[in-house]
Amino acid sequence: MESSKRVLISECEQYVGKEVVLKGWVKKIRQLGKVGFLLLRDRTGTIQCVLEQEQNQLKIETESVVQVTGVLVDTEKTANGVELQVRELTILAEAGPLPFEINKNHVKVGLDHLLNHRVLSLRHEQINAIFTIQSMFVKGFTEFLTTEGFTRIFTPKIVSQGAEGGANVFTFNYFDKHAYLAQSPQFYKQMMVGAGFERVFEIAPVYRAEEHNSSRHLNEYISLDVEIGFIDNVEEVMEMERRVLQYTFQYVKEHCPNQLDLLKVEIPVLNNIPKMTLEEAQQLLKDKYQKSSPEGDLNTEGEKYIGRYIKDKYGSDFVFITNYPRTSRPMYTMPNKENPALTDSFDLLYKGSEITSGGQRIHCQTELIESFKEKGLNPSEFTTYINSFAYGMPPHGGFGIGLERIIMKFLNLGNIREASAFPRDCDRLIP
Ligand code: ATP
Repeated sequence: MESSKRVLISECEQYVGKEVVLKGWVKKIRQLGKVGFLLLRDRTGTIQCVLEQEQNQLKIETESVVQVTGVLVDTEKTANGVELQVRELTILAEAGPLPFEINKNHVKVGLDHLLNHRVLSLRHEQINAIFTIQSMFVKGFTEFLTTEGFTRIFTPKIVSQGAEGGANVFTFNYFDKHAYLAQSPQFYKQMMVGAGFERVFEIAPVYRAEEHNSSRHLNEYISLDVEIGFIDNVEEVMEMERRVLQYTFQYVKEHCPNQLDLLKVEIPVLNNIPKMTLEEAQQLLKDKYQKSSPEGDLNTEGEKYIGRYIKDKYGSDFVFITNYPRTSRPMYTMPNKENPALTDSFDLLYKGSEITSGGQRIHCQTELIESFKEKGLNPSEFTTYINSFAYGMPPHGGFGIGLERIIMKFLNLGNIREASAFPRDCDRLIP
């Protein structure tokens, strides 16, 4: 086998007339008399390779990994205008029988089967596009926040208490103690604001021991968490979220045109996000749709109706629902000055589904201790968090976005598991 520098398929047009080495997977192979056609795929695309005589005698299974050496020639027969006349072909790793036919425009097997054979299903162009977009989404998000003066932080996922006070947490033995898997970086991101960073963000897994198996919940998901110090009000937090999302979607548009085309999705407009209080939303559901809502929240059906209403009225895929009551928000949420039964908090709905919770936080230590007590929580169980408010904590607020949830809505996927390479749900611990 000759060894020379590998050329990527996307670069082939620059090498017409030259001999190159390509490496990748065999997407398809077909015989036409003495000539064989091998469609080769690498991470940048596909190319037709023409096999003659002895290479054509080789028995090659699709999805095997091969190296091909040959001359690139112009052709009108292929979409990218080039093909490779193969001189030498080497099989680097043979593929065995495939559990399903992957190289079709639309794979016709169930989601479970696709997830069970993830290494194979991820090779499909459309499935692969989901994760290329996800990667660019995170990159755009990071780029915007970094230029806005945010520091990326990394906080522990093994913790001694759950951020919301104990529900839906995974517990395990940590040497001679009990520990939890973090449900959210909430306490730590606030502490990092107070530690002098002022503006922080984290992109990391969080864990929810939710027992229901729904199409929009995972037991492990990636949370895009943001916390901002020295805010005047919760409006500033919502505006920051609007701006980071606007930038991020634009970034994806610029960096993933082919993937967006393939999945036939449009970039949302985020010039202005309509706002509605929870009370207004619940009233609207009752008056216009005769739908009742749970105490202090919207249910999945309510979110759907509100999403549709906002789309029809304002043409927006997004809507902020604001001023949730204290009873339905965590103890660290800032009460509203005019009506202390409410909070300066919000959820963001995207295409009729919640993708964010956020709000202003209490920054005064005595007020925070009171709020813990009102919620029936014992402040002495949260001493590290509460103590961090004793050394000067600026007014602050922030939000958390579920990465798989927002990608699912953006790409119109039917199930959140499609937006996770290796999803964890109540039944699934492998692969
Ligand atoms: P939901 O009402 O959808 O169960 P929540 O109110 O429990 O969500 P928060 O704790 O406020 O959610 O989390 C903030 C965001 O994190 C949500 O808006 C969503 O995008 C995401 N999220 C929450 N729980 C899950 C989950 N189990 N799986 C995937 N994403 C989640």
